[in-house]
Amino acid sequence: MNTVYLNGEFLPAEEAKVSVFDRGFLFGDSVYEVIPFYQGVGFRLQAHLDRLNHSLRAVRIKNEQHWEEILESLVARNGGGNLSVYLQVTRGSAGKRSHAYDDSLEPTVFACCTPIKDVWKAGVDSVVPLKAIVTEDLRWHRCDIKSTCLLPNILVLQQAKDEGAQEALFSRNDKLTEGSACNLFLVKRGVIYTPKRSSEILGGITRELILELADKHAIQFQEVDIDYQQLLVADEVWVSSSTRGIVPVIEVDGHKIGKGQSGPVWHKMFELFADFQRKLMTGL
Ligand code: PLP
Repeated sequence: MNTVYLNGEFLPAEEAKVSVFDRGFLFGDSVYEVIPFYQGVGFRLQAHLDRLNHSLRAVRIKNEQHWEEILESLVARNGGGNLSVYLQVTRGSAGKRSHAYDDSLEPTVFACCTPIKDVWKAGVDSVVPLKAIVTEDLRWHRCDIKSTCLLPNILVLQQAKDEGAQEALFSRNDKLTEGSACNLFLVKRGVIYTPKRSSEILGGITRELILELADKHAIQFQEVDIDYQQLLVADEVWVSSSTRGIVPVIEVDGHKIGKGQSGPVWHKMFELFADFQRKLMTGL
């Protein structure tokens, strides 16, 4: 798990070095992706690359890389298997600290791998339900860009931990947006609700797949505004992300959600998700 990619080279992590003037380091002037690979094959790879291209275009960082080739080669060099790849692209270094940049900068590209579990093999019992808190969404208004400026996300997650929870959900103007590193869903009377896609949330790849699966299997869903009260009286609450899959939230701010355990719609969606993944990976 020790081979990383840096600016055209595959090398041991301890040999990978970037400049102290790199704008990613100085300003968080960079974007990233986290992409799951199962048995060495990218899961929803094109959707992740589309989102990366969206982020790069939005912040005007140069984009001329053969992403697929780089990622697949990195995964193979780390033994294939089940890995999540972290890919970061910064605007690069001008050898000095200055807010202004000029377009001639060469981006710094870094990627590394971390082991992940395989949802369809790990099964439903491997999922540990979460407790969450709700906090004010103090982030900027371009959360559709997967920027590495994650200080608000880091601080609220730490606050959640301090309060005995494992996730923090953001609320802006009494509308729930998403979690510190995940999208948000609730279930009421069998219908799935999730906040509308906008620049206030990240367009999660797992979120899209959940809605796709709901659509295909005739489970009703709506993309709507969700307020704090609706969250508390939901029958089920879930969060989703590429590395964690779909995880039930059984307590919010100390209030029990539904029966205080994973619910039937989550079980159904987990099965559909695991089945989708199994078919994709095994062809069966
Ligand atoms: N929202 C935020 C803020 C995230 O950081 C993430 C993932 O890291 C997500 C949502 C979920 O996105 P995805 O399903 O593409 O992993």
